[in-house]
Amino acid sequence: MKIALIGFGNAGGKVADEVFAYQTEVGRSLCRSILAVNSARVDLARIERVPDDDRILIGQTDDRVKGHGVGSDPELGGEITRKDLHEIERAIDDVPIYDVDAFLVVAGLGGGTGSGGAPVLCSALRETYREPVYGLGILPSEEEGGRASFNAARSFRSFVDATDNLVVFDNDAWRAHDDSVGAGYERTNREIAKRVETLLSAGSVDGPRVSENAMDASDVRRTLATGGIATVAYAETDVERSTRDSRGLLSRFRNGESEGETDTAKKISGLVRQAVQSRLTCPADVASAERSLIVVTGPPEELSRKGLESARRWVEQRTDSVEVLAGDGPRPSAETVSAVVLLSNVTDVPRIERLQSQAVDAQENVEAQAATRQEEIQQLITDEGGSLDPL
Ligand code: GDP
Repeated sequence: MKIALIGFGNAGGKVADEVFAYQTEVGRSLCRSILAVNSARVDLARIERVPDDDRILIGQTDDRVKGHGVGSDPELGGEITRKDLHEIERAIDDVPIYDVDAFLVVAGLGGGTGSGGAPVLCSALRETYREPVYGLGILPSEEEGGRASFNAARSFRSFVDATDNLVVFDNDAWRAHDDSVGAGYERTNREIAKRVETLLSAGSVDGPRVSENAMDASDVRRTLATGGIATVAYAETDVERSTRDSRGLLSRFRNGESEGETDTAKKISGLVRQAVQSRLTCPADVASAERSLIVVTGPPEELSRKGLESARRWVEQRTDSVEVLAGDGPRPSAETVSAVVLLSNVTDVPRIERLQSQAVDAQENVEAQAATRQEEIQQLITDEGGSLDPL
């Protein structure tokens, strides 16, 4: 599946940049174009791989912004996006839309620019284009405090409404206690990039061999057509050279089904199970998914139709999904076998409920503080007995 990728705000730009870097590493070009939109000039300058012409600074003419960002104010982020929408749309005019199957807009929801701006852009894209518009929304860690949760909970609602499906990544679930913030983000951005890239590889071939179990973009689109939110499972394993070398084509096809083939089938179904049982991009009860899609990539001799079918049946039982699609994307030069499982329209997501209740608490705090602030200022500037007159 080929996409036009748009990173909105600081986190959005960094993640989009990493997806682009990862696809270069694995020798693919499924992100046909990449744009970064931000209100802070310094953040746009820090992005490494987005061409200069594809970095769009919004809000420059607004006195409150002037290239310095919106200071975690999503209302302002949304306002300047609406005002400068024509500039973003002008850049998107240059994207070869005939060559993309969908848009993917990435944003961190705890700040201001991406949180307020990404839903505005997604609504506009859906009005203009026939291609589906997907979001990738990053939830803040609980440690970031009430303000970030408040922004995220509000943005989450508009982002879900403005997209055909919102894939959620929860920073809280991926936080490691010994990470510095920067190193933590580098690591998580890489994890996001792997998942996005493996998912996109559904139906794509980067060598002469066409998959026996090919999928295409319409399978991904069908899975995400449920609307709502999606979470992604992933696992990878190294290709052991020894097994690869010892298993020539001849031995594989002798007697119809060789030992090697049974091994490979087990390995594939085991890898898919491992993925679903590992940490999801956003923790959720997998049984609540409406549709699922499995994509396995790796060298063709490591892929197995039987393994994929057994994994498909297992995911069907495990998720209670009405529909589970499965396919693979051969990558002859790959050093790893990767399995990604997209779980679409999950509805049992405790993290979202927690986020919403933190946001309500934060809102009540802000209101309570505003009510007492005036009183406290008066108390501060007046002496205790009220005997001093101001000048
Ligand atoms: P914006 O530029 O105003 O949209 O705000 P940021 O993107 O800087 O921050 C929004 C949220 O994104 C923060 O609250 C963090 O939770 C998250 N965030 C910031 N940078 C990164 C990053 O590099 N990776 C990840 N995974 N999350 C990030």
